[in-house]
Amino acid sequence: MAMSSAVGMPLAISGTTRLYGIMGHPVTHSLSPMMQTFAFQQHHLDCVYLPFPVLPAQLAEAVAGAIALGVGGFNITIPHKEAIVPHVDEVSAAARAIGAVNTVQVRDGRSIGYNTDGAGSLQPLRALQLPLTESATCLLGAGGAARAVAMALLEAGCPVLTLANRTLARAERLVAVLQEHFPRVQVRAVPFAEAADVARQSDLLVNATSVGLHNAGETLLPDRCFHPGQVVYDLVYRPLYTPLLQAARRCGATIIPGLDMLIGQGAAAFQLWTGLPFPVEAVRRLLQPLFATAS
Ligand code: NAP
Repeated sequence: MAMSSAVGMPLAISGTTRLYGIMGHPVTHSLSPMMQTFAFQQHHLDCVYLPFPVLPAQLAEAVAGAIALGVGGFNITIPHKEAIVPHVDEVSAAARAIGAVNTVQVRDGRSIGYNTDGAGSLQPLRALQLPLTESATCLLGAGGAARAVAMALLEAGCPVLTLANRTLARAERLVAVLQEHFPRVQVRAVPFAEAADVARQSDLLVNATSVGLHNAGETLLPDRCFHPGQVVYDLVYRPLYTPLLQAARRCGATIIPGLDMLIGQGAAAFQLWTGLPFPVEAVRRLLQPLFATAS
Protein backbone atom coordinates (compact mmCIF):
# COMPACT_ATOMS: atom_id res chain seq x y z
CA MET A 1 0.00 0.00 0.00
CA ALA A 2 1.21 3.52 -0.78
CA MET A 3 2.09 5.95 2.00
CA SER A 4 0.00 9.00 2.73
CA SER A 5 0.54 12.18 4.74
CA ALA A 6 1.91 12.23 8.29
CA VAL A 7 -0.41 11.36 11.19
CA GLY A 8 -2.59 14.30 12.14
CA MET A 9 -2.10 16.03 8.77
CA PRO A 10 -5.11 16.63 6.51
CA LEU A 11 -5.93 13.69 4.27
CA ALA A 12 -4.04 13.77 1.00
CA ILE A 13 -6.33 12.20 -1.61
CA SER A 14 -4.50 11.22 -4.76
CA GLY A 15 -4.84 9.01 -7.83
CA THR A 16 -3.68 6.04 -5.75
CA THR A 17 -6.02 6.45 -2.75
CA ARG A 18 -8.04 3.29 -1.97
CA LEU A 19 -11.62 3.55 -0.90
CA TYR A 20 -13.29 1.64 1.94
CA GLY A 21 -16.68 2.30 3.50
CA ILE A 22 -19.79 1.16 5.30
CA MET A 23 -23.14 0.29 3.68
CA GLY A 24 -26.23 0.77 5.81
CA HIS A 25 -29.52 2.61 6.00
CA PRO A 26 -29.41 4.92 7.84
CA VAL A 27 -25.66 5.20 8.15
CA THR A 28 -25.21 8.76 9.38
CA HIS A 29 -24.88 7.59 13.01
CA SER A 30 -21.96 5.27 12.24
CA LEU A 31 -18.66 5.86 14.03
CA SER A 32 -16.83 3.55 11.61
CA PRO A 33 -15.83 6.25 9.06
CA MET A 34 -14.10 8.22 11.81
CA MET A 35 -12.36 5.27 13.45
CA GLN A 36 -11.26 3.49 10.26
CA THR A 37 -9.97 6.66 8.57
CA PHE A 38 -8.10 7.48 11.79
CA ALA A 39 -6.54 3.98 11.81
CA PHE A 40 -5.51 4.32 8.16
CA GLN A 41 -3.86 7.65 9.00
CA GLN A 42 -2.08 6.20 12.03
CA HIS A 43 -0.47 3.64 9.71
CA HIS A 44 0.20 6.27 6.98
CA LEU A 45 -1.94 4.26 4.54
CA ASP A 46 -3.24 5.92 1.39
CA CYS A 47 -6.85 4.93 2.14
CA VAL A 48 -10.12 6.61 3.11
CA TYR A 49 -13.35 5.22 4.52
CA LEU A 50 -16.75 6.75 3.78
CA PRO A 51 -20.41 6.16 4.72
CA PHE A 52 -22.48 4.64 1.88
CA PRO A 53 -26.24 5.08 2.45
CA VAL A 54 -27.72 2.11 0.57
CA LEU A 55 -31.45 1.41 0.33
CA PRO A 56 -32.42 -2.26 0.87
CA ALA A 57 -33.76 -2.53 -2.70
CA GLN A 58 -30.39 -1.36 -4.08
CA LEU A 59 -28.07 -3.57 -2.04
CA ALA A 60 -27.17 -5.93 -4.90
CA GLU A 61 -26.33 -3.01 -7.23
CA ALA A 62 -24.36 -1.29 -4.48
CA VAL A 63 -22.20 -4.39 -3.86
CA ALA A 64 -21.60 -4.96 -7.59
CA GLY A 65 -20.89 -1.24 -8.04
CA ALA A 66 -18.40 -1.13 -5.16
CA ILE A 67 -16.50 -4.07 -6.65
CA ALA A 68 -16.57 -2.53 -10.14
CA LEU A 69 -15.21 0.72 -8.69
CA GLY A 70 -12.26 -1.07 -7.07
CA VAL A 71 -13.28 -0.51 -3.46
CA GLY A 72 -10.84 -2.35 -1.16
CA GLY A 73 -13.48 -3.52 1.29
CA PHE A 74 -16.50 -2.40 3.22
CA ASN A 75 -18.52 -2.93 6.35
CA ILE A 76 -22.20 -3.75 6.39
CA THR A 77 -24.59 -2.54 9.03
CA ILE A 78 -28.32 -2.51 9.74
CA PRO A 79 -30.45 -3.48 7.83
CA HIS A 80 -28.17 -5.36 5.40
CA LYS A 81 -26.13 -7.80 7.51
CA GLU A 82 -28.23 -10.85 6.60
CA ALA A 83 -29.46 -9.67 3.20
CA ILE A 84 -25.94 -9.31 1.82
CA VAL A 85 -25.03 -13.00 2.23
CA PRO A 86 -26.24 -14.09 -1.26
CA HIS A 87 -24.57 -11.06 -2.89
CA VAL A 88 -20.95 -11.90 -2.02
CA ASP A 89 -18.81 -14.49 -3.83
CA GLU A 90 -17.65 -16.32 -0.68
CA VAL A 91 -18.74 -16.37 2.95
CA SER A 92 -16.39 -17.35 5.80
CA ALA A 93 -17.38 -20.33 7.94
CA ALA A 94 -17.96 -18.08 10.99
CA ALA A 95 -20.17 -15.66 9.04
CA ARG A 96 -22.14 -18.57 7.62
CA ALA A 97 -22.70 -20.01 11.09
CA ILE A 98 -23.78 -16.59 12.40
CA GLY A 99 -25.95 -16.06 9.30
CA ALA A 100 -24.74 -12.50 8.80
CA VAL A 101 -21.86 -10.60 7.21
CA ASN A 102 -20.55 -7.30 8.58
CA THR A 103 -17.25 -7.06 6.70
CA VAL A 104 -16.43 -7.63 3.04
CA GLN A 105 -12.95 -7.92 1.65
CA VAL A 106 -12.49 -7.44 -2.10
CA ARG A 107 -9.57 -9.38 -3.52
CA ASP A 108 -8.88 -9.62 -7.27
CA GLY A 109 -12.47 -8.57 -7.97
CA ARG A 110 -13.95 -11.24 -5.70
CA SER A 111 -15.92 -10.36 -2.59
CA ILE A 112 -15.46 -12.37 0.60
CA GLY A 113 -17.89 -11.89 3.47
CA TYR A 114 -16.82 -12.15 7.12
CA ASN A 115 -18.44 -11.50 10.45
CA THR A 116 -16.14 -9.64 12.84
CA ASP A 117 -18.88 -8.96 15.43
CA GLY A 118 -18.25 -12.32 17.10
CA ALA A 119 -14.46 -12.16 17.18
CA GLY A 120 -14.63 -8.43 17.98
CA SER A 121 -16.88 -9.08 20.96
CA LEU A 122 -14.21 -11.36 22.46
CA GLN A 123 -11.39 -8.81 22.25
CA PRO A 124 -12.29 -6.91 25.46
CA LEU A 125 -12.78 -10.23 27.30
CA ARG A 126 -9.36 -11.39 26.17
CA ALA A 127 -7.88 -8.03 27.18
CA LEU A 128 -9.21 -8.69 30.71
CA GLN A 129 -7.71 -12.21 30.52
CA LEU A 130 -11.06 -13.67 31.48
CA PRO A 131 -10.74 -17.50 31.48
CA LEU A 132 -13.52 -18.11 28.95
CA THR A 133 -13.16 -21.88 29.17
CA GLU A 134 -14.12 -21.74 32.86
CA SER A 135 -16.76 -19.00 32.75
CA ALA A 136 -20.44 -19.82 33.15
CA THR A 137 -22.12 -17.19 30.99
CA CYS A 138 -25.57 -15.65 30.92
CA LEU A 139 -26.48 -13.97 27.63
CA LEU A 140 -29.50 -11.66 27.50
CA GLY A 141 -31.13 -11.41 24.07
CA ALA A 142 -31.54 -13.65 21.03
CA GLY A 143 -31.22 -11.24 18.09
CA GLY A 144 -28.40 -10.80 15.58
CA ALA A 145 -25.85 -9.52 18.09
CA ALA A 146 -26.65 -12.32 20.57
CA ARG A 147 -26.15 -14.91 17.84
CA ALA A 148 -22.71 -13.53 16.89
CA VAL A 149 -21.58 -13.30 20.52
CA ALA A 150 -22.93 -16.77 21.41
CA MET A 151 -21.12 -18.39 18.46
CA ALA A 152 -17.88 -16.64 19.41
CA LEU A 153 -18.16 -17.57 23.10
CA LEU A 154 -18.80 -21.24 22.31
CA GLU A 155 -16.02 -21.28 19.72
CA ALA A 156 -13.72 -19.87 22.44
CA GLY A 157 -14.61 -22.77 24.76
CA CYS A 158 -17.31 -21.31 27.02
CA PRO A 159 -18.55 -24.44 28.89
CA VAL A 160 -22.01 -23.28 30.07
CA LEU A 161 -24.18 -20.75 28.26
CA THR A 162 -27.69 -19.73 29.30
CA LEU A 163 -29.78 -17.51 27.06
CA ALA A 164 -32.61 -15.39 28.47
CA ASN A 165 -34.83 -13.52 26.09
CA ARG A 166 -38.14 -11.67 26.31
CA THR A 167 -39.47 -13.91 23.55
CA LEU A 168 -38.54 -17.36 24.80
CA ALA A 169 -39.27 -19.08 21.47
CA ARG A 170 -36.63 -16.93 19.76
CA ALA A 171 -34.03 -17.95 22.37
CA GLU A 172 -35.02 -21.60 21.93
CA ARG A 173 -34.52 -21.32 18.17
CA LEU A 174 -31.08 -19.85 18.73
CA VAL A 175 -30.21 -22.61 21.22
CA ALA A 176 -31.13 -25.21 18.59
CA VAL A 177 -28.76 -23.58 16.09
CA LEU A 178 -25.97 -23.35 18.69
CA GLN A 179 -26.42 -27.01 19.67
CA GLU A 180 -26.05 -28.02 16.03
CA HIS A 181 -22.64 -26.34 15.93
CA PHE A 182 -21.54 -27.18 19.49
CA PRO A 183 -23.30 -30.42 20.48
CA ARG A 184 -21.11 -31.02 23.56
CA VAL A 185 -21.64 -27.67 25.28
CA GLN A 186 -24.37 -26.98 27.85
CA VAL A 187 -26.58 -24.39 26.14
CA ARG A 188 -30.13 -23.68 27.26
CA ALA A 189 -32.83 -21.03 27.01
CA VAL A 190 -34.78 -19.71 30.00
CA PRO A 191 -37.70 -17.27 30.23
CA PHE A 192 -36.66 -13.70 30.91
CA ALA A 193 -38.30 -13.94 34.34
CA GLU A 194 -35.46 -16.30 35.34
CA ALA A 195 -32.72 -14.01 34.02
CA ALA A 196 -31.98 -12.41 37.40
CA ASP A 197 -31.28 -15.77 39.10
CA VAL A 198 -29.16 -17.06 36.23
CA ALA A 199 -27.27 -13.75 35.99
CA ARG A 200 -26.43 -13.82 39.71
CA GLN A 201 -24.84 -17.26 39.33
CA SER A 202 -22.84 -16.34 36.23
CA ASP A 203 -19.19 -15.38 35.96
CA LEU A 204 -19.93 -13.43 32.81
CA LEU A 205 -23.15 -11.58 32.01
CA VAL A 206 -23.61 -10.16 28.50
CA ASN A 207 -26.46 -7.88 27.53
CA ALA A 208 -27.22 -8.32 23.82
CA THR A 209 -30.72 -6.84 24.03
CA SER A 210 -31.36 -3.28 22.96
CA VAL A 211 -32.56 -2.35 26.47
CA GLY A 212 -30.67 0.68 27.73
CA LEU A 213 -30.18 2.15 24.28
CA HIS A 214 -30.76 5.93 24.35
CA ASN A 215 -32.59 5.56 27.65
CA ALA A 216 -30.48 6.17 30.71
CA GLY A 217 -33.41 5.36 33.05
CA GLU A 218 -34.31 1.85 31.86
CA THR A 219 -33.35 -1.01 34.23
CA LEU A 220 -32.82 -4.52 32.88
CA LEU A 221 -31.90 -6.46 36.05
CA PRO A 222 -31.99 -5.79 39.82
CA ASP A 223 -28.81 -5.02 41.77
CA ARG A 224 -28.86 -8.45 43.46
CA CYS A 225 -27.62 -9.96 40.16
CA PHE A 226 -24.19 -8.31 40.38
CA HIS A 227 -21.21 -9.14 42.55
CA PRO A 228 -17.44 -8.69 42.76
CA GLY A 229 -15.53 -11.19 40.63
CA GLN A 230 -18.20 -11.08 37.93
CA VAL A 231 -17.76 -9.46 34.50
CA VAL A 232 -20.73 -7.54 33.09
CA TYR A 233 -20.58 -6.64 29.42
CA ASP A 234 -23.22 -4.46 27.76
CA LEU A 235 -23.22 -4.38 23.95
CA VAL A 236 -25.30 -1.20 24.00
CA TYR A 237 -22.92 1.73 23.56
CA ARG A 238 -25.22 4.76 23.69
CA PRO A 239 -24.94 5.81 26.48
CA LEU A 240 -21.40 4.65 27.11
CA TYR A 241 -22.25 3.55 30.65
CA THR A 242 -25.77 2.11 30.54
CA PRO A 243 -27.92 1.73 33.69
CA LEU A 244 -26.93 -1.98 33.70
CA LEU A 245 -23.23 -1.13 33.72
CA GLN A 246 -23.70 1.56 36.35
CA ALA A 247 -25.52 -0.87 38.65
CA ALA A 248 -22.93 -3.60 38.06
CA ARG A 249 -20.08 -1.20 38.81
CA ARG A 250 -21.83 -0.03 42.02
CA CYS A 251 -22.02 -3.66 43.14
CA GLY A 252 -18.32 -4.32 42.53
CA ALA A 253 -18.46 -6.19 39.19
CA THR A 254 -15.95 -5.51 36.41
CA ILE A 255 -17.70 -3.77 33.54
CA ILE A 256 -17.14 -3.66 29.78
CA PRO A 257 -18.95 -1.00 27.74
CA GLY A 258 -20.31 -1.72 24.26
CA LEU A 259 -17.83 0.75 22.80
CA ASP A 260 -15.17 -1.92 23.36
CA MET A 261 -17.03 -4.33 21.07
CA LEU A 262 -17.53 -1.60 18.48
CA ILE A 263 -13.79 -1.03 18.50
CA GLY A 264 -13.14 -4.80 18.56
CA GLN A 265 -15.22 -5.51 15.46
CA GLY A 266 -13.63 -2.54 13.68
CA ALA A 267 -10.18 -3.75 14.66
CA ALA A 268 -10.87 -7.21 13.24
CA ALA A 269 -12.14 -5.69 9.96
CA PHE A 270 -9.08 -3.42 9.69
CA GLN A 271 -6.77 -6.41 10.24
CA LEU A 272 -8.54 -8.35 7.50
CA TRP A 273 -8.13 -5.49 5.04
CA THR A 274 -4.59 -4.41 5.89
CA GLY A 275 -2.94 -7.18 7.91
CA LEU A 276 -1.91 -4.46 10.35
CA PRO A 277 -2.72 -3.98 14.05
CA PHE A 278 -5.51 -1.58 14.90
CA PRO A 279 -4.59 1.32 17.21
CA VAL A 280 -7.17 0.29 19.84
CA GLU A 281 -6.21 2.69 22.63
CA ALA A 282 -5.82 5.70 20.33
CA VAL A 283 -9.23 4.96 18.77
CA ARG A 284 -10.79 4.72 22.23
CA ARG A 285 -9.33 8.13 23.13
CA LEU A 286 -10.71 9.49 19.85
CA LEU A 287 -14.24 8.15 20.34
CA GLN A 288 -14.84 8.49 24.08
CA PRO A 289 -15.27 12.29 24.08
CA LEU A 290 -18.10 11.87 21.55
CA PHE A 291 -20.21 10.31 24.31
CA ALA A 292 -20.97 13.59 26.02
CA THR A 293 -23.24 12.10 28.67
CA ALA A 294 -20.79 9.31 29.58
CA SER A 295 -20.27 8.89 33.31
P1 NAP B 1 -32.14 -7.27 17.36
O1 NAP B 1 -31.77 -8.37 16.44
O2 NAP B 1 -33.25 -6.35 17.01
O3 NAP B 1 -32.46 -7.93 18.81
C1 NAP B 1 -32.94 -7.14 19.86
C2 NAP B 1 -32.96 -7.97 21.14
O4 NAP B 1 -33.36 -7.10 22.22
C3 NAP B 1 -33.97 -9.12 21.12
O5 NAP B 1 -33.43 -10.19 21.86
C4 NAP B 1 -35.19 -8.50 21.81
O6 NAP B 1 -36.02 -9.44 22.41
C5 NAP B 1 -34.51 -7.69 22.88
N1 NAP B 1 -35.36 -6.62 23.41
C6 NAP B 1 -35.76 -5.51 22.76
N2 NAP B 1 -36.52 -4.75 23.59
C7 NAP B 1 -36.61 -5.43 24.77
C8 NAP B 1 -37.25 -5.16 26.01
N3 NAP B 1 -37.96 -4.04 26.20
N4 NAP B 1 -37.09 -6.05 27.03
C9 NAP B 1 -36.35 -7.18 26.86
N5 NAP B 1 -35.71 -7.48 25.69
C10 NAP B 1 -35.85 -6.62 24.67
O7 NAP B 1 -30.87 -6.32 17.64
P2 NAP B 1 -29.31 -6.71 17.59
O8 NAP B 1 -28.78 -6.39 16.26
O9 NAP B 1 -29.16 -8.08 18.13
O10 NAP B 1 -28.70 -5.62 18.60
C11 NAP B 1 -28.94 -5.69 19.99
C12 NAP B 1 -28.19 -4.55 20.68
O11 NAP B 1 -26.79 -4.75 20.56
C13 NAP B 1 -28.50 -3.18 20.09
O12 NAP B 1 -28.64 -2.23 21.13
C14 NAP B 1 -27.27 -2.85 19.28
O13 NAP B 1 -27.00 -1.46 19.23
C15 NAP B 1 -26.19 -3.56 20.10
N6 NAP B 1 -25.03 -3.91 19.27
C16 NAP B 1 -23.83 -3.38 19.64
C17 NAP B 1 -22.72 -3.69 18.91
C18 NAP B 1 -21.39 -3.12 19.32
O14 NAP B 1 -20.47 -3.11 18.48
N7 NAP B 1 -21.25 -2.66 20.55
C19 NAP B 1 -22.80 -4.53 17.79
C20 NAP B 1 -24.06 -5.07 17.44
C21 NAP B 1 -25.17 -4.74 18.20
P3 NAP B 1 -37.24 -10.10 21.57
O15 NAP B 1 -36.64 -11.25 20.82
O16 NAP B 1 -38.21 -10.52 22.63
O17 NAP B 1 -37.80 -9.03 20.67
